[in-house]
Amino acid sequence: MIIVGAGIAGAALAYQAARAGWQVTVLDAGGAGYERASDVPVALLNPVRGQGGRTSAQSIAGMHHTWALLDELSAQGQTIPYGKTGVLRPIPDQKTYAKWLAHLPAPAELSQRWLDAGQPESEQPASEQPAPQALADLPRGWYKVLYLPQAGWLSGAALTRALLAGAKARGAAVYSGVMYGGVVSQYHAHSVRLITGEDYRADVVVNCTGSSGARRGEGTHRAGSVLLLHGAGVTQPLSFGAYLSPLGLAGTGVLGGTFEAPQDNHAAALRLGLPLASLSWLLQKGAALTDLSRLSITGQWTGVRLSGVPLSLQPDGAGVYHLRGLGSKGFLLGPLLAQQLLDQLG
Ligand SMILES: Cc1cc2nc3c(=O)[nH]c(=O)nc-3n(C[C@H](O)[C@H](O)[C@H](O)COP(=O)(O)OP(=O)(O)OC[C@H]3O[C@@H](n4cnc5c(N)ncnc54)[C@H](O)[C@@H]3O)c2cc1C
Repeated sequence: MIIVGAGIAGAALAYQAARAGWQVTVLDAGGAGYERASDVPVALLNPVRGQGGRTSAQSIAGMHHTWALLDELSAQGQTIPYGKTGVLRPIPDQKTYAKWLAHLPAPAELSQRWLDAGQPESEQPASEQPAPQALADLPRGWYKVLYLPQAGWLSGAALTRALLAGAKARGAAVYSGVMYGGVVSQYHAHSVRLITGEDYRADVVVNCTGSSGARRGEGTHRAGSVLLLHGAGVTQPLSFGAYLSPLGLAGTGVLGGTFEAPQDNHAAALRLGLPLASLSWLLQKGAALTDLSRLSITGQWTGVRLSGVPLSLQPDGAGVYHLRGLGSKGFLLGPLLAQQLLDQLG
């Protein structure tokens, strides 16, 4: 199998395919000069999405699948910062609350509890309680808080690296960067051509190239940024509009989101970077989630995610498979979809 692209989609496919006995070759253009979406310092594994509170059976299954991969890689000695800490989703008003109630699945499908902001419930079993600070520290003004104990956070960059290392350990060949012949320019059912003119052949070709690999005019490219934080108080992910999350080491965290106007290509989206107006938007959303005066900003990261590309496990007209256009759910759905593609290929 040839896998083009070594972000979370390609790396998860490579690891699971190599584990299942496939002979795997990964070709990646390399990251020089841009930051790919999968290097996001922290992503949430949160199946209740956006400000509409929608979820799906696939998102819930994806969350469990990615947790299982994280546990498996950690047991193999890989160092991946992640936390099955639960996620808190504050809701601004009664109207949103009613909408979310209508969208939420039964508790048997997804554990959930509604809490009052600033008043953590003490009657729940200890294992189910959120860290009291996260709830008690939430600034005033929220109507309710949805607590999702099975959700949490992970380091996107570390998980992607660990999957690729795991694939290599199981025999996958990985070529990355122009210098090492990783940039693919043509796709066929059983081969790809590099920009150097060299061909690689295999039974199956899967395109996992994300935003930077999209053809001109294909899909929607949206830049997002993460501010790296240091200070007290980020103990548990909080998300509404933007997300606030621990980063790994005690006292570190992030505040982020994908919020720039959609663009029609990767370069245009990336050029936006983090404009001052976006920084101010992000800080305003962050201030609604925590007291930002306790935190210092120590850095910034910007990446671009791709959506608007059909997510299908069927090959295209040329016989090439695609695992692209994961939008804001790359870590939630990418590994599960990769496994489903493998199951389908047999
Ligand atoms: C700020 C931000 C926050 C996010 N938060 C979350 C979150 O909380 N939860 C979540 O699940 N998701 C989140 N996402 C989305 C997630 O990061 C993406 O969905 C995911 O990383 C996309 O992965 P990918 O493998 O499809 O693409 P990418 O990570 O873009 O990887 C594509 C790879 O393809 C390679 N490539 C491109 N063209 C070629 C070529 N011609 N030849 C060879 N290789 C090529 C590139 O070098 C790259 O390595 C967030 C994204 C951003 C930007």
